[in-house]
Amino acid sequence: MAIERLEFEGVEGLRVGRFGSQINTTCILYRIGSTVVDTGPPNQWSVVRAFLRERAVERVVVTHHHEDHGGNLAAIGAELKPELRAPGGSIAPLARGFRLRPYQRLIWGRPGRVRPLPLPPSLPLAGGATLEPIRAPGHSSDMTCFLERERGWLFGGDLYISSRTRYLRSDESVAETIDTLGRVLELDFGTLFCSHRGPIPRGRAALRRKLDFLEELCGRVAELLDRGRSEREITRELLGREGWMRWVTLGHFSKRNLVRGCLERALRNRRDPP
Ligand SMILES: [Zn+2]
Repeated sequence: MAIERLEFEGVEGLRVGRFGSQINTTCILYRIGSTVVDTGPPNQWSVVRAFLRERAVERVVVTHHHEDHGGNLAAIGAELKPELRAPGGSIAPLARGFRLRPYQRLIWGRPGRVRPLPLPPSLPLAGGATLEPIRAPGHSSDMTCFLERERGWLFGGDLYISSRTRYLRSDESVAETIDTLGRVLELDFGTLFCSHRGPIPRGRAALRRKLDFLEELCGRVAELLDRGRSEREITRELLGREGWMRWVTLGHFSKRNLVRGCLERALRNRRDPP
């Protein structure tokens, strides 16, 4: 079931997903002319297909391999035969498949396998504009944003999602996310096209708030560590009790993962001051 169609500064978006709720069970794919960024989850294929059939698709790029972003790449390749591109680190998981937890299969479905081409330094759009891949590890090691300098657009994938993160995937890195946010904030853009929130006109300010929030949280975690608190105690004190997220995802998303990420960054910075 398609939930929403979006349009912002000539960029079209389609929000698809299975359950309407406050967690990220919907995902947006964006279309700029004949170029598509991300593909939605596999169980939304019929809606994605109808959207993509509205006009010719020449190229599809994904921001990272996760099933809600790259999930329909194989189906699109088989049916519409556009050029398929993905970050270097996404190619192996997209081609070979990757472990999906039960909640991921339920919410998103299981992606088909496909071997896309790697990303060139820039991808042409109509009218002389380009999409420039920007490496953005943290959420996943292959995460890549796409910058359009003329219009000041940043297609952020899962870099943003929320400025006040409370849960983290067990495979996300807080330290890398903070480094990436610092680097991305030096780029010249205005609008952030977030895969879950939609177009954010003041995108730089949103990413700045996220960076500030994470740095402050890391500071508070380090302070409590110095007072001898355990990871569990720090989590309880700063973020409160674990909610149902942790149980539904069998620990893949938790508050404790976020605190652990902050602790890892604090210890890294002590070992190896920035
Ligand atoms: Zn993701």
